[in-house]
Amino acid sequence: MTDICYPPGLIGVDDVIARLVALARTQSPATETLPLAQAAGRVLATDINAPRDVPPEANSAMDGVAFRHADLSASGELRISQRIPAGVAPTPLEPGTAARIFTGAIIPPGADTVVMQEQCELTPDHVRLLKIPSPGANVRPAGQDVAQGQPMLARGLRLNAAALGLAASAGLASLPVHVPLRVAILCTGDELLEPGEPWRSGSIYNSNRPMLAALLRGWGCDVIDLGKVADSLADTEAALARAAASGADVIISTGGVSVGEEDHVRAALVARGEIDFWKVAIKPGKPVAVGQIGNARFIGLPGNPQSVFVTALLLARPFLLARQGQSAVLPPSFAVAAGFERSRAADRREYLRVQLQEAGAGRIQVPHPQQSSGALLSAVWADGLALVEAGAPVQAGDLLPFLPFSVLLAP
Ligand code: AMP
Ligand code: MG
Repeated sequence: MTDICYPPGLIGVDDVIARLVALARTQSPATETLPLAQAAGRVLATDINAPRDVPPEANSAMDGVAFRHADLSASGELRISQRIPAGVAPTPLEPGTAARIFTGAIIPPGADTVVMQEQCELTPDHVRLLKIPSPGANVRPAGQDVAQGQPMLARGLRLNAAALGLAASAGLASLPVHVPLRVAILCTGDELLEPGEPWRSGSIYNSNRPMLAALLRGWGCDVIDLGKVADSLADTEAALARAAASGADVIISTGGVSVGEEDHVRAALVARGEIDFWKVAIKPGKPVAVGQIGNARFIGLPGNPQSVFVTALLLARPFLLARQGQSAVLPPSFAVAAGFERSRAADRREYLRVQLQEAGAGRIQVPHPQQSSGALLSAVWADGLALVEAGAPVQAGDLLPFLPFSVLLAP
């Protein structure tokens, strides 16, 4: 880690994320048991050790012939004494003979090797091996994937298709998972119109509302959409009280969080609960309020849509995932060459909306020309975010962290 000196009063992004994740980890979400088909996308609530060997018995990896390697004579010929398709329990192998066997079928006691059928001359009751496999070849031993009693799925894992497949392979029909997090959202601003309402001068359409709701659902949260809040202290206080009474675990607002005369989120939070206010060394973004109202944790995001998008992805996401009990919450980044230059070093860490583009043998990250915190087109165009650290100019070809939206938009 490099030591970067941010302007006074500003907290570094990594520090803010660490504080938010630590806050989230102080609470453990409730647990329920769900059938596998309903557990996809949930967070596993306990460690699971394999209740049995997977696979449960040694079986053949090939269509072919099973035999005991030590029984092979120089001629490579053996009599076939049984036929074992998948789904059938074999009888012990008659010594000195072979068994016709198919992929997934159980290796008969007494056999230890399978030769694939392409390497045999086969008749229904006789085999001649054209190639001698090494001892143990083409046998998948019992417990090859995971042995009984061994750790199989770790608590805090977001259950994806592979995890559900593995659980099923061990015979598990259901899993203990955390219940979804309930997140109430509020959008402040007298200027806001809902899409569908006729436009009038002085107004803009509320873009944060559907964007934030979609982000939250993508991260596994249940959304309680409380709509819009007028720019007055009384309305903001009433909205926070309503949000706290909604049964939400977390409340997220947009706008009204800076220090302007029309910004009431901070004062309302002080009146109704507890507040920590942080100025984050991030661009786009900066003011973020964090606090508590009743039983709900509160996060106040900025108002500009691009600031909402970026701060939600980078700051709210790790908090929300940790609050759901998920263990891995920090997005991996990939070093990609900069396809741009910056002669002046910034005093806040900047996240640029970038596209990955082919350049020679490799790839470069190219920023959208419009990086305004009010403009959203760049986020639709982009593949992810380039991290430009504060205090350092950028030269074309410098390796910068690239954070893909495919990761950030997912839990
Ligand atoms: P604020 O932090 O409330 O001063 O908002 C900063 C900027 O973001 C202003 O230009 C607002 O009009 C704009 N803004 C705030 N909330 C929204 C929203 N929900 N949708 C679109 N723009 C918004
Ligand atoms: Mg406002």
